[in-house]
Amino acid sequence: MRCTGDIEVRELEELAINIDPIQAGGRLTPEAMKAVIAYGDGYSVCDNCRKPFRLDQIKKPPIDAFHRDLARFVHMDEARVMPGARRGFQAVTGTFVGKGDPVLLTALSHYTSFLAVEAAGGIPREIPKDGKNRITGEAAAARIEEVTREFGRPPALLFVDHFDYQFGNEHEVREIAKAAHAHDIRVLYNGAYTVGILPVDGTELGVDFVVGSGHKSMASPAPSGVLATTKECAGELFRTTQAKGDLTQRQFGVKEVELLGCTLMGATIMGMMASFPAVKERVNHWQEELANGKIVTDALRSIGGTGILSEEPRRHTLTRVDTRDSFDRVAQTHKKRGYFFTSALGERGIGGVIPGATKVWKFNTYGLTRRQCGHLASAFTEIARENGLPVG
Ligand SMILES: *Cc1c(COP(=O)(O)O)cnc(C)c1O
Repeated sequence: MRCTGDIEVRELEELAINIDPIQAGGRLTPEAMKAVIAYGDGYSVCDNCRKPFRLDQIKKPPIDAFHRDLARFVHMDEARVMPGARRGFQAVTGTFVGKGDPVLLTALSHYTSFLAVEAAGGIPREIPKDGKNRITGEAAAARIEEVTREFGRPPALLFVDHFDYQFGNEHEVREIAKAAHAHDIRVLYNGAYTVGILPVDGTELGVDFVVGSGHKSMASPAPSGVLATTKECAGELFRTTQAKGDLTQRQFGVKEVELLGCTLMGATIMGMMASFPAVKERVNHWQEELANGKIVTDALRSIGGTGILSEEPRRHTLTRVDTRDSFDRVAQTHKKRGYFFTSALGERGIGGVIPGATKVWKFNTYGLTRRQCGHLASAFTEIARENGLPVG
């Protein structure tokens, strides 16, 4: 089936259990799918935009109320929608990082946080991970001291991922924020893998910015995301334009500089809004998601030579697994080589594993039912048995 010409329909979600780690939390709700169609046209949310002409103040559809709900959802004072978590990072670095300023990230930080630092002319410095691939408050405190000595001033900003994208490990956000605040360093909480799938309380964690990804974790179309902050930082972060045309004397009212005025103006924001009731509800079921994920990690661990590289017990549904001494051993002699694994999974209706990957790979069970996780678990053990690997 085709949309048109050479654009095929995408049917992965209909045909398979998709365990691609980045796609699990972004799958649209039926409500969002309807909103995407209804608001697919370009500037479709602008029909009823009235003075002062800003996205977050549109009343119909209720985009203004959505912004208040979003701030409350992550327990912060003010929120804006952004075209992806990365644009949220960029708004923060654009405001608080100057040329040559050191900025702390971590040994597990996402590339987009490095790029956001680079875009502002900042100098990245990493907080190391410990032997268990965790970022601790202690390591943060030590690196703050080191970087302060190196630059003669403390870092301008510190990024911390609640759960990182490589292992899905939980990091000591509260302790790290405390260490940073002791040196007056602002803290950006990267919730790309949390906001929208588990409860997030930015106030309780003591952070200055909460950034989330709509298309990664809020059942929303791409590019979408949220940037929330405190009353104290909102004035600077969401500063309004002071620009003036020298010939025309034009000024641009309350448009916010870091947002370039308005951000999500159609299908993206309406998809986010339409999914939001379901998203608010689903964060209350995080423990069930973890229990479902455990069915799969237990099955993988039962396959001889297979290791779970993420921390255990798992506190996230994204898990990194090492099958170099199991499925990759099979791949050495299999006529399909590494593709035997992807193809065996495909035959069982499972997709989302990088084709040919049999060494170290990741999966995410978020949003799968218990039955689907059971199927996934038996698929792994069956494929192992069929290929002569010990299971038990
Ligand atoms: C996916 C991801 C991002 C980028 O999110 P976008 O919404 O696509 O910009 C940033 N940080 C982490 C940890 C991620 O996993």
